[in-house]
Amino acid sequence: MGIKYSNKINKIRTFALVLIFGGIIVMYFGLFFKTSALFMTLFMILGFLCIIASTIIYFWIGMLSSKTVQVECPNCGKLTKMLGRVDACMYCSEPLTLDKSLEGKEFDETYNKKKKF
Ligand SMILES: [Zn+2]
Repeated sequence: MGIKYSNKINKIRTFALVLIFGGIIVMYFGLFFKTSALFMTLFMILGFLCIIASTIIYFWIGMLSSKTVQVECPNCGKLTKMLGRVDACMYCSEPLTLDKSLEGKEFDETYNKKKKF
């Protein structure tokens, strides 16, 4: 209890969205430096890079989505996408696992890392 786990794809999506808004805000700040072409260009480039990075992340989510496993959440009954061996439901944040040996154990993000070589 206490810590709520959120779905990984949702987390990445939120991050990409924040990055887009961050980029726009940074570009907007650049408008305050109209007197200095250098600062204005710097802010514009920084903002632009944030938006580019966000686009790449969105593209990456698209690639990841094709590798995810669709499972029916036992808690809310909706179809959710899972990334890795353990993930949380997209709708109700119910911890889910693909690995039977991990069933019933406490949800731990580190289970995903152990799979790596
Ligand atoms: Zn659910």
